[in-house]
Amino acid sequence: LEKVPSDFEISRSQKPKNVRDLAKEIGITDNELESYGSYKAKVQLSVLDRLKHRKNGKYILVTGITPTPLGEGKSTTTVGLVQALGAHLGKIAFANVRQPSMGPTFGIKGGAAGGGYAQVIPMDEFNMHLTGDIHAIGAATNLLAAAIDTRMFHERSQKDAALYKRLVPAKQGVRKFSPVMLRRLEKLGINKTNPDDLTPEEVSKFVRLDIDPETITWRRVVDCNDRHLRGITIGQGPAEKGHTRETGFDITVASECMAVLALSSSLSDMRERLGRMVVASSKSGEPITCDDIGAGGALTALMKDAIKPTLMQTLEGTPVFVHAGPFANISIGANSVLADKIALKLAGTEPGENEAEKTGYVVTEAGFDFTMGGERFFNIKCRSSGLVPDVVVIVATVRALKLHGGGPNVTPGVALPEVYRQENVELLRNGCANLGKQIENAKQYGLPVVVAINQFETDTPAEVECIREAAIAAGADDAIVSNHWAEGGKGSIALAEGVVAAANKSDSNNFELLYDLNSSVEEKLNAIAKKMYGADKVELSDLAREKIETYTRQGFGNLPICVAKTQYSLSHDPALKGVPSNFTVPIRDVRASVGAGYLYALAAEIQTIPGLPTHCGFMDVEVSEDGNIEGLF
Ligand code: ADP
Repeated sequence: LEKVPSDFEISRSQKPKNVRDLAKEIGITDNELESYGSYKAKVQLSVLDRLKHRKNGKYILVTGITPTPLGEGKSTTTVGLVQALGAHLGKIAFANVRQPSMGPTFGIKGGAAGGGYAQVIPMDEFNMHLTGDIHAIGAATNLLAAAIDTRMFHERSQKDAALYKRLVPAKQGVRKFSPVMLRRLEKLGINKTNPDDLTPEEVSKFVRLDIDPETITWRRVVDCNDRHLRGITIGQGPAEKGHTRETGFDITVASECMAVLALSSSLSDMRERLGRMVVASSKSGEPITCDDIGAGGALTALMKDAIKPTLMQTLEGTPVFVHAGPFANISIGANSVLADKIALKLAGTEPGENEAEKTGYVVTEAGFDFTMGGERFFNIKCRSSGLVPDVVVIVATVRALKLHGGGPNVTPGVALPEVYRQENVELLRNGCANLGKQIENAKQYGLPVVVAINQFETDTPAEVECIREAAIAAGADDAIVSNHWAEGGKGSIALAEGVVAAANKSDSNNFELLYDLNSSVEEKLNAIAKKMYGADKVELSDLAREKIETYTRQGFGNLPICVAKTQYSLSHDPALKGVPSNFTVPIRDVRASVGAGYLYALAAEIQTIPGLPTHCGFMDVEVSEDGNIEGLF
């Protein structure tokens, strides 16, 4: 085998086509495109309206088995598969991927543009800044954080009437409620539009949010793995003395604003979701929303361009939508609903066209394994969008399955132990139970399942065959080896053909979600733990029980649930490999992302801002005199 150059050398060696030419090829008009330089452009949401008569293209979800910390190649397979579909089989094929956070880019994991000959390019633009969406989310999140603390500060120091005068000041002699204030009045049942008409009682109700500082869940964010911001004390300046509060920062992609971006279906839907976000409770136990603070409109203004997906391309010139990237640890870990909807229309067929021949493909990825990423993709993202995927692709590797069969742990940056570099079919066969469980889990949703065996240089034919047999025996519709990393789209043609065949026989009528929204929070948690993880049940801590009661009382009990747990085991314990059984999943806490539209339950201590290792990604980066970036992966 020839040595494959570094990801960055490969990315650099291919000159991308101008994004305007790419847009033309896929049927985006000039006035729907907003270029950011030569290789990136935002696409306006009006495409959806123009193409609404089309039948959607095929919707393919790429997920994986329980991974090792090295990653098993979901992003790489997503990109390789569309390169095969688009550049070799002549289909319109989109890869819809998440925008990476710059935290991991400069930390330990590296970027998320794929790898080898299956990449999104230019990878430096992909991995840094892109078109500014994450910055916009940071600005929106921090504006709301500042608004919460400032509101408490002013409420503490002023009497109701004075507070009202300042909140609703006279401009050119006229006092007027802003649109977001009118929303609050409506919520309070005060049917008045003239600020001078409110009674003193109504004024008190209107001005006093009475936030209980202990209940504030909204945190500030930064797009950097800055661990020293995990816990901070604010209000230390002389003017705020006496108003200190302990809080902390999250990584920007963990902000609920990011989850809202991912799940919104239009600008007005995003406006409503941002306004609904619950940031705290009042001292009497009522939920306080972003709109109560008066910030829903401003947050929407900050994010109004972020809602448009960014068009880029693969190494082989096929289209990619990069849009949203909610933190997989506590959120859905998937790209946006809007990017998927737009791509499905662009890849769709006109009335009367032969669908089997003409349909295009949209391949999207969900973070973590099928059991976490796939489950959230279906029960949260698809439930919200109404879209039904046609095929589930589960990426498997020899190395991860050997780990599940009893192989030693693997560590990023450290050479792989011997068993991973030599044939060992027995170890592998044991580990295939994990793949079997993932297939069985995926099958519960009623869709065809294709296993993609992501080929590594050290894999042997006997090992690949062992995975194939195990996958078919577990009920997969097909299991196909893919060598996109070393060969690009050419190495993924067989997989692409298998996905096309599976999509053609997929029947959306068979699609089934895992649980009913109207069942109780505990029932939903048990459905996920039993049917997906293989657990006996969940066990709620006192805190979790209390929070569930509160959320149910506040009217949020019928939201879907995102369970935050380790991705390194089907269970909640990262040490349990293969297919663990006889375990109970402890739920420590339950939190709410009301605007995004789900509750999340913590089955582990989850860091919402990662740290940096000793040797960081940033240490290798340099910029040459001509402005080229060197050393990014
Ligand atoms: P995931 O999306 O599942 O986390 P990635 O696609 O990002 O995984 O791949 C993880 C890392 O492994 C990347 O650095 C990628 O380039 C590398 N990789 C993936 N597939 C292969 C392969 N077949 N051979 C060698 N390296 C690979």
